[in-house]
Amino acid sequence: ARALRLILGDQLNPLHSWFEHPDPGVVHVLMEVRQETDYVLHHAQKILAIFAAMRDFARHLREAGHRVRYVAIDDPSNRQDMTQNLAALMAHYGARELSYQQPDEWRVSENLRTWGASQTFSVREVDSEHFYTSRDEVAEFFGPRRQWLMEAFYRHMRQRHGVLMDTSGAPMGGRWNFDHDNREPWQGTPLLPPDARPVHDHRGLWETVRQAGVQSFGNPQAGEFHWPLNRAQALAWLDHFIQSALPNFGAYEDAMSAGNPRLFHSQLSFALNTKMLHPDEVVRQAQAAYEAGHAPLAAVEGFIRQILGWREYVRGVYWAHMPGYETRNALGHARPLPAWFWTGQTTMRCMRDAIGNSLENAYAHHIQRLMVIGNFALLAGLDPGAVHQWYLGVYIDAFEWVELPNTVGMSQFADGGLLGTKPYVSSASYIDRMSDYCQACPYDRKQRTGDRACPFNALYWDFFARHQPLLQDNRRLAMVYQQWRKTPEHVQTALRDQAALTLSRLDDL
Ligand code: FAD
Repeated sequence: ARALRLILGDQLNPLHSWFEHPDPGVVHVLMEVRQETDYVLHHAQKILAIFAAMRDFARHLREAGHRVRYVAIDDPSNRQDMTQNLAALMAHYGARELSYQQPDEWRVSENLRTWGASQTFSVREVDSEHFYTSRDEVAEFFGPRRQWLMEAFYRHMRQRHGVLMDTSGAPMGGRWNFDHDNREPWQGTPLLPPDARPVHDHRGLWETVRQAGVQSFGNPQAGEFHWPLNRAQALAWLDHFIQSALPNFGAYEDAMSAGNPRLFHSQLSFALNTKMLHPDEVVRQAQAAYEAGHAPLAAVEGFIRQILGWREYVRGVYWAHMPGYETRNALGHARPLPAWFWTGQTTMRCMRDAIGNSLENAYAHHIQRLMVIGNFALLAGLDPGAVHQWYLGVYIDAFEWVELPNTVGMSQFADGGLLGTKPYVSSASYIDRMSDYCQACPYDRKQRTGDRACPFNALYWDFFARHQPLLQDNRRLAMVYQQWRKTPEHVQTALRDQAALTLSRLDDL
């Protein structure tokens, strides 16, 4: 062979220009390596999903006439390291050129770049042809401005790509953002969409992964595996989402319901992040549903904002701040994660449901990630690095470029307010308003002190008291600090004592 092309596990896009015409001089290489299974402790389903999707992709390429070399996790020639495998394969095929698509993780990008620079054969990086924006485009858009606002970038993207814009150049419906109409709790109606996700049996692959010694956590669900593993399945799932859930996506975007992990969310993040789907086709289909009168503008705009806005924006934040973003810790938080992050065994019903669900399905929707698990972690002062590792390991869609800014920035405020303008925290009242968790919880959402008091309440006030020097001048927190200053001193003391007691026994909550 003349040339090798490396395809990473999150680059499973059959529409990439690489695959337009089979070329017998080119061998496509996919590899399952311990380097990639072991950089963090992963959920079993994440390992399974990526390997199964890679295997499917290799099969698809072969059927389309391309040459493929697939290095399985138990292949005797597998050196379990990407560049060592590549060096051996280049020699084996006598190839003179290696290409790879631009990686999305800084870690992999650096690894390939530094290794590639010292080779005698030519090494080329090509576009992954996936995102709307280049790595540096968000940073260029904001220029020297210190505070970046997602909303400004999002409007720019709407105009630039003509998404939800009317012919006069105004946003459809006369407004850019309809969140005001969203954010309702869900109380059993409308009915949830039927579960039409594909079912796969991966017991064989799971056995191979285990025998190779790969460590993991969470339920593998190997016999009843639900994630879309190729573009055809992802397209069918997208279609199902648009038909059955998108109309209600907006209204219930922030709602939470015990035992109902999906509600009206799309669960498209795995298919998007592995590039089976292009973000623009998802955005266009959502827009078409609005234009056909099938889904209201508030739902469609809210959904599109997540993909055209947030997803591109956080990627820009990632590349603007790597390396180093992963160790940010603006609030100096250092507590280890309570043991129940790995078991779900806590009596707090919201945490039990959100973590239990994550361990069972490798999934939790945005508000569970942000306003339950992340909220607790921030209030309790958990080490943001450890929180980051947990999120990176547990979710099916977790790839560092999107997970890290969401966790360290948006959720843990560990970047000191680069990504979010204020910390996303709340006491029990927000969780109670948006969910049915508190009704059957052993803790009392109304009590702030005492054995039965919901831990979120005292921790909330302790958080703001603890970080007063850093946060009190933030204009978006003026009301919070006003309320704290008005709280009688003996109440302040009782709240802080209650928080100290809670923090001393986190494992037992
Ligand atoms: P939906 O609610 O149906 O949204 C549609 C799509 O919009 C998603 O598939 C996703 O591609 C995109 N999207 C929505 N919110 C965001 C966001 N904040 N940032 C980037 N894209 C977004 N998303 C990941 O893809 N990978 C992660 O590792 C990840 N980690 C997160 C960690 C924390 C602490 C928080 C608060 C959020 C995280 N998110 C992450 C963002 C978001 O929670 C998930 O994208 C979403 O829950 C995936 O489920 P869904 O496909 O059903 O999303």
